[in-house]
Amino acid sequence: MGICCPVCGSENVRLSHLRQGDGYHLLRLRYPIRCRSCRLRGWTNFYWMVKLWRRQRAQDKQAALKRRQKQAAGTAPQAKP
Ligand SMILES: [Zn+2]
Repeated sequence: MGICCPVCGSENVRLSHLRQGDGYHLLRLRYPIRCRSCRLRGWTNFYWMVKLWRRQRAQDKQAALKRRQKQAAGTAPQAKP
């Protein structure tokens, strides 16, 4: 169970980038999110913001680990025929 998009219901959402006019929402402790499925930009409270941030950080770490493993495999000495 997590945060989902109010339009398409997808749970595939991420933290959106801050824009110039977001100050009002930030003062109300709301943070922008972006749905990856329908591209809608919405708002969430800081509780979900922290949860999403942690999830994104974990996903970024996984991606970096995979990249490093791929790089290591690419630079490993190859057996010559
Ligand atoms: Zn959506």
